[in-house]
Amino acid sequence: MIRLHNTLTRRVEEFRPLVPGKAGLYSCGPTVYDFAHIGNFRTFCAVDLLKRFLAWEGYAVRHICNLTDIDDRTIERSKAEGVPLREVTDRYTRAFFEDMAALKCLPADVFPRATEHMEEMFSILAALESKGHTYEAAGSLYFRIRSFPPYGELSRLDAREVMDGARVDSDGYEKESVRDFVLWKAAKEGEPSWESAWGRGRPGWHLECSAMSRHYLGDTFDLHAGGVDLVFPHHENEIAQSRGATGAAPVRHWFHVEFLLVDGEKMSKSKGNFYTVRDLLARGADPEAIRYLLLSVPYRKQLNFTLEGLEGARAALRRIRDFAARFADRTVARGENDALARTIAGYRGDFRSALEEDLNTALALGALFEGIRAANVALDGGGLTQDAHREAGGLLSDFERVFGLEALPAVSLDAEVEALIARRQKAREARDFAEADRIRDLLKARGIVLEDTPQGVRWKRS
Ligand code: AMP
Ligand code: ZN
Repeated sequence: MIRLHNTLTRRVEEFRPLVPGKAGLYSCGPTVYDFAHIGNFRTFCAVDLLKRFLAWEGYAVRHICNLTDIDDRTIERSKAEGVPLREVTDRYTRAFFEDMAALKCLPADVFPRATEHMEEMFSILAALESKGHTYEAAGSLYFRIRSFPPYGELSRLDAREVMDGARVDSDGYEKESVRDFVLWKAAKEGEPSWESAWGRGRPGWHLECSAMSRHYLGDTFDLHAGGVDLVFPHHENEIAQSRGATGAAPVRHWFHVEFLLVDGEKMSKSKGNFYTVRDLLARGADPEAIRYLLLSVPYRKQLNFTLEGLEGARAALRRIRDFAARFADRTVARGENDALARTIAGYRGDFRSALEEDLNTALALGALFEGIRAANVALDGGGLTQDAHREAGGLLSDFERVFGLEALPAVSLDAEVEALIARRQKAREARDFAEADRIRDLLKARGIVLEDTPQGVRWKRS
């Protein structure tokens, strides 16, 4: 069971998908006008952890992450550089994929581009128009907030804050000015535009996400994720558009990630207080330590970024790896069902239940380190029994699986694999089957599958 905070209800609730065993997840992806900063990546890494945890809990996850490749910012950038929009957005899409890979984020099933989904947007516009939610002004099409009474449910807007009849054209705007927002913007000289039933123009940013989430996941889907800054107006507007068009609430569960801060302020491009992943790598940072840092604070708590914090994350990761290396190297003592095995199994349980309760990564890591401490004490005292060894190995692989970080150094060279296989062979000859199995499992965990054949042991990478 997994319980998650739902922004719509402001409560931590059991996650119940539409279709048992499946989870449809849409996350607002990057605006590809520049390199993403690590604040953006805090959100992307949190979504990645959510995905991995859902998979661990047995869900088949379908993840859609859009690329905002047409909006105010991308257009500004292409104008400023004097190059075609697509050249700008392709460049930063590539960079985004590289950074995602560096931070070990699994790719989405689809990364749809807004510019490739005009038809899906038109179908929402037509439905909104037929239901009286739109009006035209100065060649652009607007959403009339007054026509949609539930407006403000997600962000808990006070109805009095809504400025009836006032309009806004920019994609991003502040809460102080709740206004009719633009759905389709009239074409401007020198800007990309598309032919439509509402004249030549281009979509507003909010419309893009409504169209792509609906196209890939349906009128109603399970999870919609993004940073907290998207609650208003972006997600509020998405609900108005989607529900206004289809009549169905689009999202069952809203998942919002708190800010990454620098000196108490939100990390953002406009404040200039940001680091990109590249900045940190150029300073010699370990990308896995960046990921560890971003995930170590539960996603609903703000995380203040400092270089010392990054150093701390590196040290914590090193402690895990030192233990993993030591653990992999030890021969197993005899014995079963000892107290230590039960203790470590208890920490494994704590690790999992911390994550089940709204992804409390800090508590989960606490349980991991308790387990490591207990096992280290036993290793100092001579060794781990077979059961304790199995539980400690399980704890490490649980961590690897959900946090997406490798505890055991990868077996990258064929020679290392051969050496381990030889050790396993010796153990088998000595009838030490526990040790032989342990080495087999160790290799399996590193992606090496062994096959015993009459001609001897064969191996392959899985
Ligand atoms: P953008 O590229 O600006 O559309 O943002 C991509 C994602 O990063 C969105 O989900 C934002 O909410 C999120 N985001 C932006 N700044 C921060 C920050 N400082 N901390 C956490 N998430 C952020
Ligand atoms: Zn979005």
